[in-house]
Amino acid sequence: MLLIHCPYCGQRPELEFRHGGQAHVARPADPSATSIDEWADYLYLRENPKGLHAERWRHVHGCGRFFNALRDTTTDVFVSTYRCGEPRPDGGSAR
Ligand SMILES: [Zn+2]
Repeated sequence: MLLIHCPYCGQRPELEFRHGGQAHVARPADPSATSIDEWADYLYLRENPKGLHAERWRHVHGCGRFFNALRDTTTDVFVSTYRCGEPRPDGGSAR
């Protein structure tokens, strides 16, 4: 069974977690000044890399908190997990 490290609770089985999509997707500061294409990109476009991907996860059957994780999509290995608001540990790009 895959174990995921919750930054608040420690190692837990994967069954306690739910994937929450791509991490670091920032809502435009002024949506009314955003073009329709930029708004559509914000709503619908997400990265789909082969390799490291920054993702949001939620410990739904534990503390209930969201956190971010760097996961390698080719091996399903969690390289790192970190609390929301903290920078991406590898210094990778954040949209
Ligand atoms: Zn937790």
